[in-house]
Amino acid sequence: MRYISTRGQAPALSFEEVVLTGMASDGGLYVPETIPQLSADELAEMAGLSYAEIAFRVMKPYVNGEIDDDTFRRLVTEAYATFSHDAVVPLNQLDANHFLLELFHGPTLAFKDVALQLLGRLLDHFLKKRGERAVIMGATSGDTGSAAIEGCRHCDNLDIFILHPYQRVSEVQRRQMTSVLADNVFNVAIEGNFDDAQAMVKASFADQSFLNGTRLVAVNSINWARIMAQIVYYVASAVALGAPHRKVSFCVPSANFGNVFAGYMAYRMGLPVERFVIATNANDILHRTLAANDFSKQELKATLAPSMDIVVSSNFERLLFEAYDRDGAAVAALLERFQAEPTALADAPLAQLRELFASHSVDDATILEVIREAHHRTQEILDPHTATGYRAAERERGEASVPMITLATAHPAKFAEAVVKAGFPGVPLPPHMDDLLEREERYTVLPAELAAVQQFVVENRR
Ligand SMILES: *Cc1c(COP(=O)(O)O)cnc(C)c1O
Repeated sequence: MRYISTRGQAPALSFEEVVLTGMASDGGLYVPETIPQLSADELAEMAGLSYAEIAFRVMKPYVNGEIDDDTFRRLVTEAYATFSHDAVVPLNQLDANHFLLELFHGPTLAFKDVALQLLGRLLDHFLKKRGERAVIMGATSGDTGSAAIEGCRHCDNLDIFILHPYQRVSEVQRRQMTSVLADNVFNVAIEGNFDDAQAMVKASFADQSFLNGTRLVAVNSINWARIMAQIVYYVASAVALGAPHRKVSFCVPSANFGNVFAGYMAYRMGLPVERFVIATNANDILHRTLAANDFSKQELKATLAPSMDIVVSSNFERLLFEAYDRDGAAVAALLERFQAEPTALADAPLAQLRELFASHSVDDATILEVIREAHHRTQEILDPHTATGYRAAERERGEASVPMITLATAHPAKFAEAVVKAGFPGVPLPPHMDDLLEREERYTVLPAELAAVQQFVVENRR
């Protein structure tokens, strides 16, 4: 198994290389050259297995023998042992045929832990094998930074530098990052906004000479290993509800499209899926594209579901590559047009996508209404991201006899602001985190100057 770029020009890579690389050199994203298949028998045999064992079986073909089975099984088992629920990602039944897949039982209470707990271990494994060290740099306005820090805190061969905008992330989100006191974790508060932090990370990737040859690694959602790890919970939840003998549908609160693309991969591997419903907040590029063929950027809106606040959905490119029959030149041309001006998909690929995907956009007022309504009907308090999914699932449910699985992407305590706005007194943090607001913090405040940030990285990496 090799990995190829969605824009058709960059060299094909091995699994190890694709984990250590981020974006392809032609500006595209890496995808597997062929999609491994899960037979009906293999799916049926997964019923009743542990999450870690299902994860091992689903991901093994992507690893392509580049990690021996015992080691890979150990990495997977360790990654999911950090989750506080024995089922790792439990299914919670809301009504006769609507289920919540709780993806928020990891160390930082959002679904990004599922991928980043594994990615940190994979990176550390490959670096150790090569006798190399690497530096991770990332900018965060919330969930990704803390999940990346938790995923890397025990990695001997990695130093991680996460930039967040000073005094512009919520206290819970800041403390989830800054209370990790490991020697290889460096939190930098930038005196600027998220875009300033992001720009400095991008500039550092574009010109890495300041690191004198040390590898710089990205852990954003374009890393293939993150998609790979997310395929697993689609398979595990569908099997729990009767796959391969029964179809299911999924509803996915979406932004960069990494999560729902993983679902699409599960479908292409052979999982019987009726449809995927894409939920967006007011930043609705995915919904506009599917519903109105309006593939264009719009100004960023700050919403009550901030982890879904995006202008461009980077991983949508991977789906376009499939819809355009893996024609890298066509994808490159479309995305170049998209960067310059509002554009549209060609008729045939759009028609193909509409057969499998539905979409629905949910504004802030509706998010609050849904949190109240869902609580009234089910006693559950949804986080605002999951609330977009709940509404989209109800509106775009399709065939009522097909179970609908809505992905619960964050724990409500992490986004208490929206929950309080919806009229609830707030949500307590889970017991293992209830001292978060008293824990010691460590971070460094730096001006929004590239030279200052790079100097800090060079002086502190080990
Ligand atoms: C990152 C995130 C999303 C969006 O996921 P994508 O893979 O970017 O589509 C949704 N909800 C929460 C809570 C998140 O942290």
